Amino acid sequence: MRKVKTSLKGRKCRFHGCSHTLSIYNHEEYCHVHLGQVTQDKKSRPHKKK
Ligand SMILES: [Zn+2]
Repeated sequence: MRKVKTSLKGRKCRFHGCSHTLSIYNHEEYCHVHLGQVTQDKKSRPHKKK
């Protein structure tokens, strides 16, 4: 039997092919695994800040 969708709970990671369910405490759009990958990707810009 399938549960009815909950609103804030049970959000899924938006990473393509990932069906990881996000914690209600995770306000990101990706699971912790892919969040690191996505942010890493964004950081790949050639800029240095110090
Ligand atoms: Zn994911």
